[in-house]
Amino acid sequence: MYIDSNGDRWYKGNLHTHTTRSDGRTTPEETIRQHAENGYDFLAITDHRNYNFANPVPGSRLTIIPGMEFDAHIAPRRRIHCFHTVWIGPEKPENPYDQDQVFEREDVKDQFDFQEKYLNDAHKNKQLTIYCHPQWSGTTYRDFGVLKGNMAMELWNSGCAIEDGVDTNALYWDDMLDKGHRIWGVATDDGHQMYQHCKGWVMVNSENNVSAILDALKAVGIPAVEVHISDVDAREPFRQISYAGMACIHTIKGQGLDGYRQAILYLKAYLNN
Ligand SMILES: [Zn+2]
Repeated sequence: MYIDSNGDRWYKGNLHTHTTRSDGRTTPEETIRQHAENGYDFLAITDHRNYNFANPVPGSRLTIIPGMEFDAHIAPRRRIHCFHTVWIGPEKPENPYDQDQVFEREDVKDQFDFQEKYLNDAHKNKQLTIYCHPQWSGTTYRDFGVLKGNMAMELWNSGCAIEDGVDTNALYWDDMLDKGHRIWGVATDDGHQMYQHCKGWVMVNSENNVSAILDALKAVGIPAVEVHISDVDAREPFRQISYAGMACIHTIKGQGLDGYRQAILYLKAYLNN
């Protein structure tokens, strides 16, 4: 924990890590102890398709954020070409998943298929999702750019950088922001071995408990309304695809300059709710 000059408390955490519960080399106990020794306050143990709530180190200072990593290959399988997402969620009873719940998966056709088959369910079940290591997965912005509802994407992934020399991901993020798709960037380790842990992290200004940390992660999404002065649906087809709109909570079209007034009223009502 770090206290800044305003007296605000900042907690340090890792949102993506592996243990012997899947293909990691360190046990959950060793992984938790290593993070505690390195000054971490919270940790999500996100083993592949195997959900975790547990903290097997009694008395540990670490808050365990419930979660897992869920992945699916893009068919046909020819090379590494897949979607990996970290799902983190609230504690019971808000979280419908169970300790050690194992998730099956099938290949998907594309990002729309992945969204429909898996990601929508995650969001319906109160999970915050992070799009993982796009470069390692062989996905460019074109493959994953219109996935809806991801809280963040990985900008840095220590495991991929150390093992494979990939995943600084800044260009992918730049591409998304440039297209108006606003998404937060996070650094994670995705650590599978001791030397990969404790190199990438996030810091949140909150209390140190699961719901406060998740709220702080969510709170950084600023709501926006998209305004078109003309009715774009009645104009050329290229005007009808809006990447910015995909990141907005509402779109107003064809209301002239009054659209701006309506957008402000919409945001006021939204924020008052
Ligand atoms: Zn991973």
